[in-house]
Amino acid sequence: MGGTFDPIHYGHLLAAEECRSKLGIEKIIFVPTGDPPHKKDYKIASAEDRYAMTLLATAGVAEFSVSRTEIDRAKFTYTVDTLLEFNAAGIKPDELFFITGLDAMLSITHWFDYERIPELCTLVTATRPGWNVKALKKLPEFILRNLKIIEIPQFAVSSTVVRERIKNNMSIRFLVPHLVEIYIASNGLYKI
Ligand code: ATP
Ligand code: MG
Repeated sequence: MGGTFDPIHYGHLLAAEECRSKLGIEKIIFVPTGDPPHKKDYKIASAEDRYAMTLLATAGVAEFSVSRTEIDRAKFTYTVDTLLEFNAAGIKPDELFFITGLDAMLSITHWFDYERIPELCTLVTATRPGWNVKALKKLPEFILRNLKIIEIPQFAVSSTVVRERIKNNMSIRFLVPHLVEIYIASNGLYKI
């Protein structure tokens, strides 16, 4: 499961867990994106902070782990590169699932080299509040053939909502795991 995880929240964890249990996936690997090459938006946490929060959120969950591959890659990273890397590491296309939420899946035709993605993995999309499953119909047939749609409990949280709440001095308790909440507060993230 890829994402910026800025910060990771219970919507991410819930989506991952529902897809894991419904598809019988052995292990979920969270892959935080690296920092974009151009100057960062000052409101956005660094790759290392996002990685640390993803580790804290998944600590103690035997089936969840976190990969540094996109963070450590020197050049700007694309999903297709990460999938090729997992294939090369021995996870065959029929064993590899790429999980996104519905909003992300609806933009797949804008991703670099997206035409190659169905050969590298099975695509999985979790439902997300505010996004209509029917909109998937506009995606090309070769994507739809490879796509599994997983209905998950609808939890209308986003990293944007979490960041906005912090800026407005509102509570983020129960939107993010407790250790993530503590990490954000101790490091003064997202305050401005
Ligand atoms: P932002 O508001 O900054 O875009 P986000 O909450 O969408 O943050 P991302 O890191 O962009 O989080 O998302 C990573 C993946 O998790 C995406 O595929 C996204 O669709 C999915 N996702 C995020 N929140 C939810 C949710 N509440 N339910 C289902 N899927 C989600
Ligand atoms: Mg998003």
